[in-house]
Amino acid sequence: MKIGAIEAGGTKFVLGIGNENGEILERLSIPTEEPSVTMAKVIEFFKGKNIEALGVGCFGPIDPNENSETYGYITTTPKLKWANYNIIGELKKYFDIPMGFDTDVNGAVLGEATWGAAKNLNSSVYITVGTGIGAGAMVEGKMVHGLLHPEMGHIMVKRHEKDSYIGKCPYHKDCLEGMASGPAIEERWGKKGHELEEIKEVWEMEAFYLAQAIANFVLILSPEKIIVGGGVMNQKHLFPMIREEVIKNLAGYINKKEILEDIDLYIVPPLLGDNAGLCGALALGLKSLK
Ligand code: ADP
Ligand code: ZN
Repeated sequence: MKIGAIEAGGTKFVLGIGNENGEILERLSIPTEEPSVTMAKVIEFFKGKNIEALGVGCFGPIDPNENSETYGYITTTPKLKWANYNIIGELKKYFDIPMGFDTDVNGAVLGEATWGAAKNLNSSVYITVGTGIGAGAMVEGKMVHGLLHPEMGHIMVKRHEKDSYIGKCPYHKDCLEGMASGPAIEERWGKKGHELEEIKEVWEMEAFYLAQAIANFVLILSPEKIIVGGGVMNQKHLFPMIREEVIKNLAGYINKKEILEDIDLYIVPPLLGDNAGLCGALALGLKSLK
C-alpha cells in the first residue's frame, strides 16, 4: 500500500511516500514559497505515484473540523500568503483519494503513537521546539481538537528571575514560544542556538521554561509519555535538565513511578527521529482510510 505524506512547515515542506508499516520509501524536501509555487511542486511529486490516501500535517492555525465550511484551510497564519488558504481543497483538485488533515504536531503525536515512542499508549504529548513551539496531544486514543485545536506553545510562563528579554511571540511577547523558541534564544543571546552550546545559563533558562510547560501538560492532560523534538532539542543535554526541573515543579504531587523514578523513560526524544513529522503525516493518511 502506498500512502502520500506532506509535512507542511513554515520554512520547508517535506513530501514522502510511505506504507502502512511507517516505512518511508521516498522523500523530498522543498522550500515553503508562495502557495502557487510550492503546491505545483507538491502536485508534481505525487502525480502518477498511485497513492491510496494522503496525510497532511500542517503548520497552523488550521481548520481540522470536517463539519466546518473552512475545513482543510490554513487559517490565520502570520505567513500572510498562506492565510485562508484551502490546502486540502487544492490537493482534492488533483487527487480523488481519502485525505487526513491535522496540525503538524497532532500528526507527530499520532505517528509516535503508531510506530514510535508512544506505541501502545493511549495518551501522549508531542512538543516541538524549533522556529516556533507547538504541541499535539493524544488523549484516550484520540487527537485533541475542539474549538480549534490546542495551541500549547502559547501558554503563559513564569519569567526567569535573571531574564529581561522582552519575548519573541508576535501575539503575546513572553509566552512559552516567545521565551523558548529557537529565534527567542537567538535574539536574547545574540547567537544561534548551536553556537551557544557551551554557555550554561542559556540552557538553564531554556530548561526552566520548557519544564514549566511540561509540568502543566502533565497536570492538565495526564499523558503517559512526553516526546520532545525540534531543532533546539539537538542540544541533548537539555533532556536531563528538563527532567530534573519537571520533578522540581511537580514537587511530588503526581505520585507516579513514571515521574519519580523513571522520568528518563517518560520525557524522551522522538523515536522516529528526523522522520517524526513525515511519519506523522503518513499516519494521518493511513487513518483517513479507516
Ligand atoms: P522548524 O521549526 O522550522 O520546522 P527546526 O525544528 O529545525 O525547524 O527548528 C529550527 C530552530 O532550531 C532554529 O531556530 C535553530 O536555530 C534551532 N536549532 C537548530 N539546530 C540547533 C542546535 N543544534 N542547537 C540549538 N538550536 C538549534
Ligand atoms: Zn504566543
